[in-house]
Amino acid sequence: MENILIPVPSQPTPKVFWMPKKSIEHIQRKEMADILKVQSAAMKAVQDYLWEKGILLSSPVILSTITDPLNHDVEDSSLKYRGQKLELTKSMILHKQLAVGALDAKGIYIVSPNVRLEGDHTSLSGRHLLEFSQVDIELRDASSEDFRKLIEGLYTHVIRYVKESCAPELARLGRNLKVPTEYKVFKSDELREKYGDRFEEVVSGMEKSPFWVLSHYREFYDKQDKESGEHINYDLVYPEGYGEALSGGEREHEYGRILEKMRERKNSEDAFAPYLQIAQMGILRPSAGGGFGVERMVRFLCGKQHVRDVILFPKVPGEKVVF
Ligand code: ASP
Ligand code: MG
Repeated sequence: MENILIPVPSQPTPKVFWMPKKSIEHIQRKEMADILKVQSAAMKAVQDYLWEKGILLSSPVILSTITDPLNHDVEDSSLKYRGQKLELTKSMILHKQLAVGALDAKGIYIVSPNVRLEGDHTSLSGRHLLEFSQVDIELRDASSEDFRKLIEGLYTHVIRYVKESCAPELARLGRNLKVPTEYKVFKSDELREKYGDRFEEVVSGMEKSPFWVLSHYREFYDKQDKESGEHINYDLVYPEGYGEALSGGEREHEYGRILEKMRERKNSEDAFAPYLQIAQMGILRPSAGGGFGVERMVRFLCGKQHVRDVILFPKVPGEKVVF
C-alpha cells in the first residue's frame, strides 16, 4: 500500500497528518470493495452461527458511567453530560456481565464500537485502531471450555463461509485461506519461558492454524482460581503472524472477590460504584465470554498488512484524524 503519511517539512516540529484527498484515495483503492465483501460475508457467518446457537443480539452501549478499566494505559476518553462523567466504551465486558446476570437467556452478543486512545507505539503493530468494532459475547453459567468450543466452531464456520462465498475476491486479494483443522492450546507461562515476553508474535508467526493461549494476568473481572492462583482466561491468536484475535475469560461474580482484585489492580472503587452495587446484591452469575475485533478478523481473512487497510475511515494511534 502507498505511504499515506504526509510529512510537513516546513513545520518547526515535524507533524504528520492525513490529507482529506488521501483519505478518499484510500477508499478508492480497487481492492476496497473486495475487502468489504469479505467483511460482509464474515459478519453474516458470525451472525448466522450465533443465531443457530441461540445467542441473542444486544444493542451497543457507547456512553456509560462504567467501562472496561483495561490493564494497559490509554488516554482518557470520557466526557461530561449534565455534570456526569461518562466514558466512551472501551469494551462492554461489564455490561455483558450485568446483562447475563439479569436476563433469562443462554447468552448475548454485541457488535460493539470501542474507543481506545492507545499510545503511538502501537501504530506499527498492524492491529491497533483508536476506534474499532468488537464482537463481544458472553455466555451465562458457562465455563472456559464451553466458550472456547463455541469460538472454535464460529471461526471454522466463518473461514469456511468466506472461502466458499468470496472465492473471486480472495483470488484478487492473493489470499489462500485454510479452514482450521485444529486449535492448539498453550499456557502463557510455558510460551514465555520458551520464547520470551514477545511469545505471542513468535508463535503466531510459526503456527498455521489459530491457537489458544491460556492463563495470563489480566483484569479484575477475569476469574482467578482461589487455591491455585491460575487465571482462567484465554486469548485466541491468529496464525501466520497476524497476532491476537480474541481475549476473554471466565468471570468473577462474587462481590468480595471482585473488590479484592480491584484493589490489587488499583482500580478506583468509586468509578465502578453502580457495578459494585449490583455485585453486592448477588445478581451477577458465573459466566464466560470474550470478544474479537472485526477489523482484525477482516485483516486476517484478506491477508492485509495493517487493520488500517481494511477499514474505510481508519484512525491509527499517533496519526491525525481527518474523517
Ligand atoms: N471483550 C473482552 C472480554 O470479554 C474484553 C476485552 O476487550 O479485552 O473479556
Ligand atoms: Mg487482549
